Amino acid sequence: MKKCVQDISKVELHCHLDGSVSSGLIKQLAAEQQIPLIEDNLIVSEACESLDEYLQCFDEILKVLQTTDSLKRAVVDVVNQADHDNVKYIEIRFAPMLHMEKGLGLPEIFEAVEAGVETAVASTGIKVNLLVCAMRQQDATVNTALFDYLQQRNSQFVCGIDFAGPEVPFPPNTIETQIEYGVNKGFNLTLHAGECGCMHNVMESIRLGAKRIGHGVAINQDEVALQEVKAQNILLEMCPKSNIQTKAIQDLSDLNLPYLLQEEIPFLINTDNRTVTQTSLNEEYQLLLEHHLITLDQIETINQNAINFAFLPENERQHIKSKLMS
Ligand SMILES: [Zn+2]
Repeated sequence: MKKCVQDISKVELHCHLDGSVSSGLIKQLAAEQQIPLIEDNLIVSEACESLDEYLQCFDEILKVLQTTDSLKRAVVDVVNQADHDNVKYIEIRFAPMLHMEKGLGLPEIFEAVEAGVETAVASTGIKVNLLVCAMRQQDATVNTALFDYLQQRNSQFVCGIDFAGPEVPFPPNTIETQIEYGVNKGFNLTLHAGECGCMHNVMESIRLGAKRIGHGVAINQDEVALQEVKAQNILLEMCPKSNIQTKAIQDLSDLNLPYLLQEEIPFLINTDNRTVTQTSLNEEYQLLLEHHLITLDQIETINQNAINFAFLPENERQHIKSKLMS
């Protein structure tokens, strides 16, 4: 039996690059680039009332992530943090369109991020893949052009797509054509849904082809919806501390973990944004343990199961599975 959270080999499927770059690196990049930062804006305030407010932290961080050097170092920095959490496989997501303020184009952005992955993999041995986020609020043509580029680039590290950004003004039906465009190109799809409390958005996202749901908390109290998730073999990417901060949930018990565990509804615990949320993967699990919502054995089991939902070719999945079991 494992003695503590750190001992358990883990998988992380929902981690944003910009929101997870360490404060240390952000400050260093700001100094090097001579960009004045408002440090209080890097992390979510205790008085945060909503997802919109939470998302404002990213404006400050993104100021320093507009160069190829900073993007590469950001990836290495986040993978190193995952390594400290004993993560064996991570899918890091990023929105290329948010890194173009100073003139970078898609090829340079991808070269930088991929170089970061190569460096990080070589130094940690963690398997790293990338999820590319389209932004819900962006013009449809921007998002479809991004998917065209992805197809053309055919990166060995890009394993799927997501739509991030404000969910209330842009529910799935308003971006349906773009989602279908990406899915029809053969990309694996995970979608942020149900973070705003709307259950319908989760079910719509599944109908549109999402194999995993980011957050999905809106359905966590609804047994019919949860059983549907199970029947369709969809994994819920849960991010407890972030959900408390965005007021997606009022209390950790709202996640309904004992029911999910008992009914074997697929879910995984993730950090979402290590820096904005001020968390680590170990901390997330520790928090749940302290609230008696999960046991060490169950943490081990959900991580071993989660690899079945990773966007990986079968041979690579089996390889990582063997690492998680050892
Ligand atoms: Zn997210």
